[in-house]
Amino acid sequence: MQGVGFRPFVYRLATEEGLAGFVGNDTNGVVIEIEGPAKRLATFCRRLESEAPPLARIDSVTVAAVTATGESGFRIVASAAEGQVSTGIPADAATCADCVRELLDPGDRRYRYPFLNCTNCGPRFTITRRIPYDRPQTSMAKFKMCADCQAEYDDPANRRFHAQPNACAVCGPRIWLLGADGSAIASQDPVKACIDRLMAGDIMAIKGIGGFHLSVDATNEAAVMRLRERKHRHGKPLAVMVRDLNAARAFCHLTEQEEALLMTAARPIVLAVRRDGSGVAPAVAPGIPWLGVFLPYAPLQHLLFADSRVRALVMTSANLSEEPIAIDNDEALERLGKIADAFLMHDREILQRCDDSVMALVDGAPQLIRRARGFVPLAVPLPFDSPPLLAVGGHLKNVFALARGRFAYQSQHLGDLENLGGLEFFRESLTHLMQTFEIEPEAVAHDLHPGYLSTSWGKDWAAERGLPLIAVQHHHAHIAGCMAEHLLEGPAIGLSLDGTGYGTDGKIWGGEVLVCRHDSFDRFAHLEYIPMPGGDAAVREPWRMAFAALTNAGIDGELAAELTNTSKQQTRVMAQMIERKINTPLTSSLGRLFDAVAALVLNRREVDYDAQAAIELEGIAADEDDRLDRRDYVPELWSMNGVTLNTGAMWQAIVDDLRHGVSKERIAARFHSGVAEGFIFATANARSVTGINQVVMSGGCLHNRRLARLLRTGLEREGFQVFQHAQVSPGDGGLSYGQAAVAAAMLTKQRA
Ligand SMILES: [Zn+2]
Ligand SMILES: [Zn+2]
Repeated sequence: MQGVGFRPFVYRLATEEGLAGFVGNDTNGVVIEIEGPAKRLATFCRRLESEAPPLARIDSVTVAAVTATGESGFRIVASAAEGQVSTGIPADAATCADCVRELLDPGDRRYRYPFLNCTNCGPRFTITRRIPYDRPQTSMAKFKMCADCQAEYDDPANRRFHAQPNACAVCGPRIWLLGADGSAIASQDPVKACIDRLMAGDIMAIKGIGGFHLSVDATNEAAVMRLRERKHRHGKPLAVMVRDLNAARAFCHLTEQEEALLMTAARPIVLAVRRDGSGVAPAVAPGIPWLGVFLPYAPLQHLLFADSRVRALVMTSANLSEEPIAIDNDEALERLGKIADAFLMHDREILQRCDDSVMALVDGAPQLIRRARGFVPLAVPLPFDSPPLLAVGGHLKNVFALARGRFAYQSQHLGDLENLGGLEFFRESLTHLMQTFEIEPEAVAHDLHPGYLSTSWGKDWAAERGLPLIAVQHHHAHIAGCMAEHLLEGPAIGLSLDGTGYGTDGKIWGGEVLVCRHDSFDRFAHLEYIPMPGGDAAVREPWRMAFAALTNAGIDGELAAELTNTSKQQTRVMAQMIERKINTPLTSSLGRLFDAVAALVLNRREVDYDAQAAIELEGIAADEDDRLDRRDYVPELWSMNGVTLNTGAMWQAIVDDLRHGVSKERIAARFHSGVAEGFIFATANARSVTGINQVVMSGGCLHNRRLARLLRTGLEREGFQVFQHAQVSPGDGGLSYGQAAVAAAMLTKQRA
């Protein structure tokens, strides 16, 4: 991997061992030619792997003998740019402790310089146009290093030896303030002026590493509310940046693992349980017990928090709703001028948009909810060779993937393709990653859903190039991805639990027990189909799902209307839609079942963001224990017309509980346990039929930590070997990786 200080490290190691030769990058990786006494060569090889720099990742080492040339001294040779590339570009890494120390040291020549970095830290992916990763290929090309910086860059003993974005206040990028209308705001100290404005309640647009953030004082309720109104983001939680780990502990209850996650070089947003009375404004994350918290990862952010007035800042991607994050100065002024009160700009161009990554600990294991900065464009291994191909991903939360050989490269989180600029971002990012990895796809994999923008775009793109298309069923892709990630050969039993995915029968799936191989699957069992009156409208208004599920369970229409607070007229319309099947698809989705129960129990009629009702239901259940004291909450396994998990008795039980005044916290906990038990039971049945003992869990519902924990512990109790995602998201952000795995397996079989 380039840009992680590996060549300088090799240089130091060779020099220390008194060995001669050279180190260089070619497009296959790092090449070292070395000569000297055999014992020292052996020590060198051992230290090469054991002492590698923090950001380096060694996939494999190949050693071969060559004739000694008798040369003396060790050198670093220039990069070659031809051939097929496998070294790629490193991910962006948070400012390292050494650099932070210099930043805050009045005696250091980089004191308060917002763009310092070294070989152990700094931007990479977001400032690089193409490989090889060398300064002329980055947005640092226009800054000529001053003599001091150049001397560091050239000195093999220096931490900044060949640090491509190396810079200082004399020669590097700078910052300045602009008003909302783009007019200059004169200031001796733009950082201090920015803080003054934040403390006064202003909304600041701050240019960062992968794009602009919109920032307000997270302890100022009025400021947070104003940001929400201007950004048109009403309920969805906002991420909060705090000074350091101690500060994070003051705002959240953190486990040791969560603390470790906060400190990783990727510095993701981590979802953690928030402390009451910590001072964070209620509007930051209304209705849920968690807070998305993260630590400064760029020098400019460290400077903001070096001011004791700054405790916690909302730092949210600068965009309107789900549009792509703004990166260009002029673009930002145009798009954010009506949201931000002022801009903190800089002149180091961001070449790749990249949002902050989001992670959570699920049952003790880190899980990616949004895979972006700090992870992209790192490769995810595949268990078998893939021809060069493109997998276009899903519809919402789109991420595409390129694959070749034993690796897949997922794009950054691209967001919703149907939003303004969404497809443009997709094209821009695809062109860049194809160029970066020199992958020319020979096939295109897409979702079965004919209505996905990614599907129609992928079909057009393939047609222009005369490439074959491979349609991959949504839930098969989820499971195949998780199998591939763990290098499982299969077959495996797959629990594919999510919101919406197009089934092979044209219905909407999402509560699926599959028997999966990489290239094919059988549907063993699924949740009972329930009408979805209004289609997408039933997603935005979960009371529709509640009404449909209740009446489907045989509960009287009048009672269903009363329980869901539905008017007589609405009841009539719903009943007609369901009866006459007007715009009312059938769904086996677990996500929709969660919506329906949440709508009923929490009386939430509409949602502001995806899965809001389900997330709130998980939130209130948090204080109940796991033990299931009511078997009637468990969906019953029926095999009359195909194997289904019937939810009728569960709905009766919920209605009984509600009428007997059982608390909603209790009902929510019982529902989580019941769902888990139902799927565990179905999985055990699948095992008795197939003899398969490996269970792979995927789909957006696995973001529900309570459900994931209940499933895992329950399945393990039954003796199953259980696998969950580690490197890609279980939600639709991970879909393209699974599509790539399925397509690669199918193509390999075809060609064999
Ligand atoms: Zn550093
Ligand atoms: Zn300089």
